[in-house]
Amino acid sequence: MKKIGLIGGMSWESTQVYYQLINEMVNKKLGGFHSAKCVLESVDFAEIEELQHKDDWKTLAEIMVEAALNLEKAGAELAVLCTNTMHLCSEEIRQSTGIPFLHIAEATGTVIQKQNIKKVLLLGTRFTMEKDFYKHILDEDFGIETLIPNKQDREAVHRIIYDELVHGNIKTESKQIYQAIIDKAVKAGAQGVILGCTEIPLLIQSGDVSVPVFDTTRIHATSAVEFALK
Ligand code: GLU
Repeated sequence: MKKIGLIGGMSWESTQVYYQLINEMVNKKLGGFHSAKCVLESVDFAEIEELQHKDDWKTLAEIMVEAALNLEKAGAELAVLCTNTMHLCSEEIRQSTGIPFLHIAEATGTVIQKQNIKKVLLLGTRFTMEKDFYKHILDEDFGIETLIPNKQDREAVHRIIYDELVHGNIKTESKQIYQAIIDKAVKAGAQGVILGCTEIPLLIQSGDVSVPVFDTTRIHATSAVEFALK
């Protein structure tokens, strides 16, 4: 079994889900007393959130590269960045480290493609929804078209992530807001929805909406376990 390196803390509410899922999946696969070999580099999200909202992606990339290098020094054999948004820095991480980096959008695209879905709604932070780093992978590598909510709805999705979900606040009103936004996209032709922020699965699960949901936390954790046990 390879040692999994997790870059976490963005937020810790979802990093703990990664830790739990990875251990559960390794145990399910290997049985007995087995658990995952892993190492976690967890950042202070206050610093990250401030830099994100200042659009200082250069400093953010430096922090992500340092975290990945620390994992490598600690013996990690693969790197998993436990957030969608911070994959904006994935090129810098890939260029600076010698261990494989499992990209969350690539893992997600692979799963969507297997279900033969061609058009999806992408929900996430405004950085993930509005910038191109995520949509471009789905389009170029997997031929998947991405819809995003209108401006007002994007603001609601983003606000709920930062004001509630990263603090572990799960509210029924917010779930209803997300469900209404997803419904609109389904009417506009979305065949599925990407929960493209690792905290959104705390609020929305499959069964809450009429189309398949792609839980990026679970998909990414699954790809890490498959790679580690390969
Ligand atoms: N965990 C979130 C994501 O998957 C948002 C927090 C962050 O900005 O890293 O995008």
